[in-house]
Amino acid sequence: MIRLVQVSKIYDGAGTRVTALANVLLEIVRGEFVALMGPSGCGKSTLLHLIAGVDLPTTGEVWVDGQGLSRLSDRALSQFRRDRVGIVYQFYNLLPTMSAWENVALPALLAGVPVRVARERAEERLRLVGMLHRKDHWPHELSGGEMQRVAIGRALVNEPPVLLADEPTGNLDSKAGREVLELLARMNAERGVTILLATHSQEAAAFAHRTIHLRDGTISAAP
Ligand code: ADP
Repeated sequence: MIRLVQVSKIYDGAGTRVTALANVLLEIVRGEFVALMGPSGCGKSTLLHLIAGVDLPTTGEVWVDGQGLSRLSDRALSQFRRDRVGIVYQFYNLLPTMSAWENVALPALLAGVPVRVARERAEERLRLVGMLHRKDHWPHELSGGEMQRVAIGRALVNEPPVLLADEPTGNLDSKAGREVLELLARMNAERGVTILLATHSQEAAAFAHRTIHLRDGTISAAP
């Protein structure tokens, strides 16, 4: 489902050059739940961004769901980002001026789904993540754990086969964090969503089938 072949990412700034990823080789099969661990700055977010098609590698190729991302046109790449991958972030990134259901419906609306259908889909996803009873609430009326559940509903609204989670429990207390991880595990087990979870936490990584360790932009066998 996800395959990285000799992927490097170099950020070239004004007089600075940062090698965020160096010759990464990685394969994740359909239906896997994989944790990505490593210290801050080791390249976890960069790796997720490349798989999401938000950024392209300096060298090498990223394959997701059979598509080589560097070969896609701009239009095909934005379609890929919208339909084939969902992302959840540490700080939820919900739009503050939209209700819970409107936040969840937004990616479907952007994909051209009619409002009535998008609303039904959003409500179905909110039911899935246990947040239907809060569908008309604003993000500021929700707890961190509730906002993250809404964000997971939004990430899944277009039924992407891949879900990328960048420190999704980093800002939550342990109970809310556990609930979010249980929800991810359920989406993986019941809906077959392939999940890549970047985390600092050993406890979070324990929810995954296996753990990949990243260090200074390179995958290492052991922590
Ligand atoms: P992590 O998510 O593991 O904390 P990142 O992928 O965010 O790591 O960063 C990896 C390295 O790349 C770090 O040294 C970081 O400073 C650098 N980096 C990340 N994004 C950029 C950017 N847009 N421009 C320059 N350097 C960057």
